Amino acid sequence: MDRRHKIKMCAYGSCREEFYAKGDRGRSRKYCDKCRPLVVLAIAKKSYYNNKANRLSKMAKYRSEHPIKTEKQKTATRQYNKIYREKNREILRAKALKAYHRKRLNKPQL
Ligand SMILES: [Zn+2]
Repeated sequence: MDRRHKIKMCAYGSCREEFYAKGDRGRSRKYCDKCRPLVVLAIAKKSYYNNKANRLSKMAKYRSEHPIKTEKQKTATRQYNKIYREKNREILRAKALKAYHRKRLNKPQL
């Protein structure tokens, strides 16, 4: 290797590849060109998981500014859901009643 420039060692995992420290900005850990994308990705992932609240608030803000549905559509879906829920409840009640009667009929007679 040419010794005119400073030589640094890659700090990613067990890479330990040597490279010239040209344009060095004085960060503590240095990475070779092969490992840098991985490191950048890892940092991005870490920040993504650490700033969950921030991310969610940003998303909520964006959604409030760019709504998918209008208020009219929202109320329509709410009403539909209400009807559907009641229907579903009736069905469940009927099923439960049926099961109850079946249980009673299948009881061994003493
Ligand atoms: Zn490396």
